[in-house]
Amino acid sequence: MKVGFIGLGQMGSGIAGNLLKAGHEVTVWNRSPDKADSLVEAGAARAATPAEAAQGDVVMTMLADDKAVESVVFGEDGIAGCPALHVSHSTISIELSERLEAAMSGAGGYVAAPVFGRPEVAAAGNLFVIAAGPADALDRCAPLFDAIGQRSFVVGDHGPAANLVKLCGNFMIMTAVESMAEAMTLAEKGGIERQALLEVLTGTLFGSPINKTYGEILVNDRFRPAGFAAPLGLKDMTLVDEAARRSNVPMPFLGTIRDHLKSVIATEGPDIDWGAAALAVRRGAGLGN
Ligand code: NAP
Repeated sequence: MKVGFIGLGQMGSGIAGNLLKAGHEVTVWNRSPDKADSLVEAGAARAATPAEAAQGDVVMTMLADDKAVESVVFGEDGIAGCPALHVSHSTISIELSERLEAAMSGAGGYVAAPVFGRPEVAAAGNLFVIAAGPADALDRCAPLFDAIGQRSFVVGDHGPAANLVKLCGNFMIMTAVESMAEAMTLAEKGGIERQALLEVLTGTLFGSPINKTYGEILVNDRFRPAGFAAPLGLKDMTLVDEAARRSNVPMPFLGTIRDHLKSVIATEGPDIDWGAAALAVRRGAGLGN
């Protein structure tokens, strides 16, 4: 298929590379053009504008936040109104997803397909894709989702449904990080090493991928380089809060998580993984790093 790919950050570069490896004709665009160089060397075409990348069958976007997606879709030379089907992978607000769906209804169409998996998972083509949109559009996307992920889930025929599921998942990742950080801090102050606690928990009742992946990050304080930067994590928790306000859902854990993310960004700077919210827990208990 002729696929445009916009947004070659930590996630997008790996995803676009896998589309290329699967034999699709890929045209790339990134705000900072140098990030496209290695993909162009590997056979991708370079677009001069986002709109130029959206003239084929499908255009995929993987951008930081609402502001970035708005600029690429509705800004100068944006993809709104272009003939390609817009597949939006970014973690964005429900409200923006609704606007994107409306904007593409008279044009190439819209599918929301946020993903679970960190950059190394994206590079390995093992993402989980959470998709929502019209059935015919989802059918056209199937070979693309196969190229980038291990499994796709369809959660509705309107894009925003997928964004809501993604936000729920990210909220649960951070509650797992928070609860592991609190338990590890309690154990450590009682003389039990973090690694020993993690082995028991993941070997018995808590053997989920999230507990294993983030448990290892927390045990080793492996927060740099950031696989998922804390400011993006704070952005996602703010989107969860907006969604909760729209539906009047009290989410008391969310306030704690957001405060710990703010605290770690303030003390460590923005170039740290969101798992480092655990540092705020440890420091609150009087432990150093
Ligand atoms: P990233 O490495 O920071 O990349 C962000 C991308 O957005 C870059 O291509 C950047 O372009 C572009 N961008 C930012 N502001 C822009 C603007 N105003 N106009 C145009 N382009 C702009 O982020 P990432 O980790 O790949 O995350 C991308 C998305 O995936 C986010 O929505 C994130 O929440 C989601 N996500 C991330 C992970 C993860 O573990 N990292 C997992 C699942 C989902 P430049 O290169 O020019 O800065």
